[in-house]
Amino acid sequence: MRIFRTLMNAASVAKQIDFYSRFSPSPLSMKQFIDFGSENACAKTSFTFLRQELPVRLANIMKEIDLLPDNLLRTPSVRLVQSWYMHSFQDILEFKDRDVDDEMLKQDFTDAVIKIRNRHNDVVPTMAQGVVEYKETYGTDPITSQNIQYFLDRFYMSRISIRMLLNQHTLLFGGKVRDNPAHPKQIGSIDPSCRVTDVVKGDYYFIKILLQNAMRATMELYEDAMEYPPVHVQIVLGHEDLTVKVSDRGGGVPLRKIDRLFTYTYSTAPRPQMDTSRATPLAGFGYGLPISRLYARYFQGDLKLYSMEGFGTDAVIYIRALSTESIERLPVYNKSAWKHYKTIHEADDWCVPSKEPKDMTTFRSF
Ligand code: ADP
Ligand code: MG
Repeated sequence: MRIFRTLMNAASVAKQIDFYSRFSPSPLSMKQFIDFGSENACAKTSFTFLRQELPVRLANIMKEIDLLPDNLLRTPSVRLVQSWYMHSFQDILEFKDRDVDDEMLKQDFTDAVIKIRNRHNDVVPTMAQGVVEYKETYGTDPITSQNIQYFLDRFYMSRISIRMLLNQHTLLFGGKVRDNPAHPKQIGSIDPSCRVTDVVKGDYYFIKILLQNAMRATMELYEDAMEYPPVHVQIVLGHEDLTVKVSDRGGGVPLRKIDRLFTYTYSTAPRPQMDTSRATPLAGFGYGLPISRLYARYFQGDLKLYSMEGFGTDAVIYIRALSTESIERLPVYNKSAWKHYKTIHEADDWCVPSKEPKDMTTFRSF
């Protein structure tokens, strides 16, 4: 009887996931986040938006998880991640037909939002762990690696966006005192008057990643030198872009390897022990660059590396200068996403150079 009920439940949840995955997520602009949060921010409006939008964003990405290779889905880590998504999806659906009253908004919904956010704290290292286990047990071919890279970019981006929504709601309506003396004009997690130079000097994830990489490359190249060439940071505000460039003279990376630096399974740093309680997210796992690039892309910016092997590297972060143009970049589950996982990849349409240089005599015989 109990098993039967569980099965029924799973089937009806699957139906709900299907239903919500047919909606496209609704991207918000930075201007919308700021306007909504600045004057008369309304908890009820936020609630009605979130109880539709959260299941949509969750369902869209859950459908993509389902398309991962079976053996990856079977790893304990990925199962765990999937169960978190299932729980959170159902937690939000609880509010589907609830009447909206102040008590419910203040207490129940905020509690649910906080519970969901905490439940998903360790999604990134846990998913990473699943991928490592899968690769160690089954090995990978280039196609599977490509699919996993495609998936992780979308999966982590979806997570960034969902956490943004959860955080804004709890920071604006969580009941705690909202005034932050250090940043009086802050709207939730957004600081509309932030000084970028302070950010560069401060302890912020994605600029820190670039500075660490630049300094590590410099130190490794110069080893015991008494003096090191400095790392330069240049910040420029244009009409469209705010650009931050971090330049080092740490010897650079050959062009052939640049793309690799953005894959989730590449690092030259010694592999750290898995410890999900650490504050620094995944330093040494080779996750710094790909995750930083996602943060840059989340609001339509980007992160690029320009390297001169034998000299050094420029890492450039592009950020949209206008709040109307900074619009969430969100994955959507549809036919073309589906095709990425299912298409049989055919032979390359560019010649693959052979390893051995051709014997010139073969040319002469033509
Ligand atoms: P991690 O630092 O954990 O290895 P990252 O994604 O930050 O992960 O970097 C991946 C790899 O890219 C580094 O291990 C390093 O080999 C290379 N790399 C990154 N930035 C630089 C740089 N400025 N100069 C030389 N190599 C770099
Ligand atoms: Mg790094």
